[in-house]
Amino acid sequence: MIQVGVNGYGTIGKRVADAVAAQPDMELVGVAKTRPNFEAETAVRKAYPLYAAVPERVDRFAEEGLELAGEVDELVAAADVIVDCTPSGIGAENASLYEDHDTPTIFQGGEDADVAEVSFNARANYADAVGADSARVVSCNTTGLSRILAPLEEEWGVEKARVTLVRRGGDPGQTDRGPIDDILPDPVTIPSHHGPDVNTIFPDLDIDTLGMKVPATLMHTHSVNVTLESEADAEDVLDRFADETRLFLIPPGADIDGSGKLKEFAHDTGRPRGDLWENCIWAESVTVEGRDLYLFQAIHQESDVVPENVDAIRALSGDADAAESRRTTEDAMGVGI
Ligand code: NAD
Repeated sequence: MIQVGVNGYGTIGKRVADAVAAQPDMELVGVAKTRPNFEAETAVRKAYPLYAAVPERVDRFAEEGLELAGEVDELVAAADVIVDCTPSGIGAENASLYEDHDTPTIFQGGEDADVAEVSFNARANYADAVGADSARVVSCNTTGLSRILAPLEEEWGVEKARVTLVRRGGDPGQTDRGPIDDILPDPVTIPSHHGPDVNTIFPDLDIDTLGMKVPATLMHTHSVNVTLESEADAEDVLDRFADETRLFLIPPGADIDGSGKLKEFAHDTGRPRGDLWENCIWAESVTVEGRDLYLFQAIHQESDVVPENVDAIRALSGDADAAESRRTTEDAMGVGI
């Protein structure tokens, strides 16, 4: 059993913890939290050993009636792999703690690429992380793009990708984020950081990205144009995508017109937290004009990176079989609509 610790138990961390706990070959040794808030309370209710991320705040947990298993360095020492799910930039600050304990570490996409030996997507470059000391699971948007670019590159070749990312202003719990009544080019300069981030997974891929931010919380939406190297037709692309377990092709008859109904579907089908781990591609949008492929996809920013984190844990632990890891992850979590 791979002993896994999760440092940072927020939006991503709590989902990674649940996914790890569900795996047949992993054991969650604990989660570390900075504050004894409602998320700490849920960790205790789930019987996840709770560690204090900041030693000076140990007493605050006791004051809230939350029992601690220890402090974060004990969690790092006990784990075979640490998944750092702290806010952007804090992961890099924590890196020396993990190095001091020689504990292989997974960082998240909010960190700069140089925080880890390799940037990781389970579909595109699993092998690069096998046996590494650290990996960075790329952001929700880069994960969503990598999952479609990998099969397109393999089947037809990608001459050039152009993507406009319409991004949610904040996650549902982020009441301090915006905009609340505007549509922002974000960043106003082109390309946005997403294209270069995709290049951490596909170094030679020609991609331009444009970012926008809108008053929404549920999901991101991508408008994608990929010029293929050889001709395809839409049916071929749909058939190829249908083989990909982390792509959900929204059926034309489903009457799903946006993120609201997608999330409703996820809740109705009993997904934990209404999570959509798969890219949600509108099948009707998949169109090919000559060698130009167009599509719309929605990306659930809070959850699409979660199965990737689980696979990254196996890769760092030396398990070299990418397809087997992805299958195990998906079976345990219930990925694949
Ligand atoms: P979050 O703010 O929801 O959760 C972070 C958690 O870490 C919080 O509970 C916070 O209290 C805790 N924390 C803060 N400082 C800490 C420290 N020093 N030690 C331990 N814990 C600490 O953030 P998030 O959305 O889960 O993002 C985490 C990472 O995942 C970031 O790199 C982010 O860019 C990336 N990411 C986020 C999303 C998303 O949409 N939320 C998607 C993909 C990747």
